[in-house]
Amino acid sequence: MKRSERSDAEIQLSKQVVQTFLSVRAEHKCEYCGLDFFASVSNYCLWQKDHIVPIKHGDTDEMSNYAAACFPCNVVFKAQWNPKNHTGSDASREQLVAVTRDYIAGKRLQAELHFESQRKMVRWNR
Ligand SMILES: [Zn+2]
Repeated sequence: MKRSERSDAEIQLSKQVVQTFLSVRAEHKCEYCGLDFFASVSNYCLWQKDHIVPIKHGDTDEMSNYAAACFPCNVVFKAQWNPKNHTGSDASREQLVAVTRDYIAGKRLQAELHFESQRKMVRWNR
């Protein structure tokens, strides 16, 4: 069945099944930074489905290529970064997630340094 032939209800049910599977597999946390999606409604709103290897880099739109990720990890820090450029081509899902986690930790550290410099610049001191 083509996607265009599916009803809105079928598509919504499919998205809910995928989200439930991803959440359980990831123990309800961002697979990159550990943010607990169910600790607050704000955290829940940050929950996204990430393509571990971006589709534009040739990987597939399948469960094995999905990770539960928060918005900052998925969009701000990872973006279109391709973990396969840093692993062997036959890397496991776990290896791809691990190398992505390390990459995001580095990007987050850079952001924290910038953030602290901005705090000083605006003389924020609460
Ligand atoms: Zn995260």
